[in-house]
This record gives sequence, structure tokens and C-alpha cells, in this order.
Amino acid sequence: MMPFSEFHLHPDLLKGIRELGFTRPTPVQAETIPAAMDGRDLLACAQTGSGKTAAFLLPILHRLMARPRRTTRALVLTPTRELAAQILEDLNALAVHTPLTGAAVYGGVGMGPQEHAFRAGVDVIVATPGRLLDHATRPYAKMGGLEYLVLDEADRMLDMGFLPDIKRILRHIPAHRQTLFFSATMPAPIGALAADLLKHPVTVNLQRRSAPAVGITQAVYPVPQPLKAALLVELLQRGILQQALVFTRTKHRANRLTEHLVRHRIEAARIHGNRSQRQRTEALAGFKDGTYPVLVATDIASRGIDVEALSHVVNFDVPMAPDDYIHRVGRTGRAELTGEAFTFVASEEESDLKAIERAIGRTLPRVTLPDFDYRAAGPQLEVPRGERLAAMRRQRAGGRRGTSGHGGAGGRHPGSGRRPPRRR
Ligand code: AMP
Repeated sequence: MMPFSEFHLHPDLLKGIRELGFTRPTPVQAETIPAAMDGRDLLACAQTGSGKTAAFLLPILHRLMARPRRTTRALVLTPTRELAAQILEDLNALAVHTPLTGAAVYGGVGMGPQEHAFRAGVDVIVATPGRLLDHATRPYAKMGGLEYLVLDEADRMLDMGFLPDIKRILRHIPAHRQTLFFSATMPAPIGALAADLLKHPVTVNLQRRSAPAVGITQAVYPVPQPLKAALLVELLQRGILQQALVFTRTKHRANRLTEHLVRHRIEAARIHGNRSQRQRTEALAGFKDGTYPVLVATDIASRGIDVEALSHVVNFDVPMAPDDYIHRVGRTGRAELTGEAFTFVASEEESDLKAIERAIGRTLPRVTLPDFDYRAAGPQLEVPRGERLAAMRRQRAGGRRGTSGHGGAGGRHPGSGRRPPRRR
């Protein structure tokens, strides 16, 4: 694939890109950036983890560079405060060698600094719809100078009930503008909104590309605890995973998972503390020679396994100790890679994941598997219906204020189970 330099982006942006370690554009970036730089509207189907944030930021930043002035000219709408904060962080990194400025506007924090950002005329505002509307009627919140509008994770914004807010916001924005529309899925209401907002858009559909994008070898799958086994089966059946060493927190979970895989006709062996040396050796040899495409192991058993040559490591549970993650996935604290590593994270494991991200010094991309039913209810669900509904209601209420507490692609999934007792 072509290098970034072929986009003719402003040299100051290319410098930021290089420093971020991006060598080649991801497929979404390759397909969207040239069209957006030409000033075209964009309708892009892209997952979190695809590199979509840079895909919409880079062309906008590039075009803003041509005519810097003290007016807010770009607005990014995104469903949650975590995403808003993340996008601003990406913006600051990409624009570090430019004079361009950005600010995030979301609920749950004071209005004062956000008002200041409006008054200062930062170049780009990244906002959740609810909080943006709180500002919109104030005289300082001038939106008449906007030339670029991005809808990020449009499907999720609609799921969270933001459609009326978005429509209200649109009344404050000039009709003559460039609009970049990103959504992981394209159900009918999204199509309708896109048709409303976009003028002769260039359409990019990479929905089928569910594996993390080129150049991204570590990814996080946010998934409710009870659906982890189903997600693993799906990744294997779709061929996204062909061979995988899968780590679970406990022996019990290793046993249950292995049984689940075998029930779904996936050859799997397991190793953990209760297995004899002979059984372990047999399992490991069978895995290495391909008899078993999947080897399930507990954290403890992992210490003796040479994972260097493996194509895929799956952390079925988030490792409690960041060192375990680094040991499995990368050789150094900066996590240079040995292969692809997927980590399944239930909402209650987010804090352990944060500790890992701090230890490796980067945020891992969140990925959702297209067409996987993240809301499936079934015999596997361990949380009673009443509790699930309450969680859903909390999510709605939180989202409306722009305070939904989950930055991952899957949102805060209803039906998240509890962390199992620590047992090995
Ligand atoms: P996103 O889909 O925007 O959430 O991006 C997912 C992750 O991929 C982020 O951590 C980005 O920093 C990273 N990323 C974006 N573009 C590239 C690229 N061209 N090469 C390597 N990593 C990238």
C-alpha cells in the first residue's frame, strides 16, 4: 500500500503522522482521505479500530491549514465523552507541529472552560450532542463559521437517542459545508439521516473488514462477559482467527471454554495446573503441529509457553497483571509485537485494561465484530433481566447527558456478567 506522503498532506501533518508511528494508511484512510481532501462529502462504513479518526481528522486539518484564523470551522459530533476525549487526543497528536487548536465539549464537567474554547475560536470542536446543545443557544457559541461537520459513530448516536439533538444542532450550522459521515453499521435510519445531510457523497464500505486494520496488531473487543465464548467461536468460524492461544483467568473457565469450543466442532486442547505433565506436553505438541487450532491455557500455565512463534493470542479475560499482558503480547514495555493479540474486555474489566494501557504507554484500539449480536439474550446470560434493563436505562440516561462511561466500540453492554471469583 502507498505511503502517507502520496496524499500530499501538509508537511507539518506528515511530521505528526510519522511521530505517531503510522507508516501506511489503513484501508479506510486510503479510501477516504483523497476524496475528503478534494472537498467531497463522505459516507463511510467503518469500525472503531479501523483508523477512522485519523481518516476524518487529517483531511480537515489539512484544509484548515490553508487559511488559519480565529474562528471555529470544524465540528465533530461523537456519542460519548470518552470518544470525544480520544478524538481530541488524536487531534492534538496529529496537529502537534501545526498552529491548529481543538477542544472537547461534553457533559459531566464544567461549562466554563468549554465556553472559553468557543470564545477563543478554537479551530475544531469535538462534542457530544447533548452538551453542545446546552451551549448552542448562548451568544458566544458561534457556529456560523463552520465549514466542516463530522458525524462519528452515527449509528451509536442514534441508538443513544441523539437524533433530535443532532437535528437541532444542524439548524445552527451553515448548509454550505463539507460533511463526513462515519458509522459502523448502515441500518435504514442511518441511511435516511445520511441522505439528508450529504451531497453527492463518496461512499466507502469496509464493513466486511472486521479484523483490525493493517498495521494494528493489538485490539480490544468490548463484549459482555456471557457472550465471550460465542464471540470466540464466531471469530474462529469466520476465519479471522485460524490458530489461537487463548488465555483464561481460571482453570474452571479454561475447562468450560474448551467444552464450549468442542461442542461447536472446534478442536481445542487445554493446559492448566490440574493437568498432568504428560497431558500438557501432548496438548502443546498437538497445538504446535496443528492438530488443535486452539489451545486454552490459564494465566499461570502461560508462563511456560513459548508464544513467540504464534500467530494469535487471545486474552479471553483481561490479565490482572499488566506484566502478563506484556509477556504474552510484546517483548518490551513499549509492546513491540510478536503477533496479533485480541483482548476480550467486559465492562467490569475496563479498569484492569486501563492499567495495561498505562503500562504499555498506549490506548489499544477497540473493535466490534460486524453482524455479531452483542445484545443476544440466551441461556448464557448470567445477569437477571431486571438488572439488564436497569443497566440499559442507566446507559440511556447517561448517554443523553454525554456522560456514558464507556469509550469502547460496544458501549456499555447490557447483560454484562460479574467477574468470576479469582480461582486457579
Ligand atoms: P480508530 O479507528 O480511529 O479508533 O483508530 C484505532 C487505532 O489505530 C488508534 O490507536 C490509532 O492511533 C491507530 N492508527 C490509526 N491510523 C493508523 C495507521 N495508519 N497506522 C497505524 N496505526 C494507526
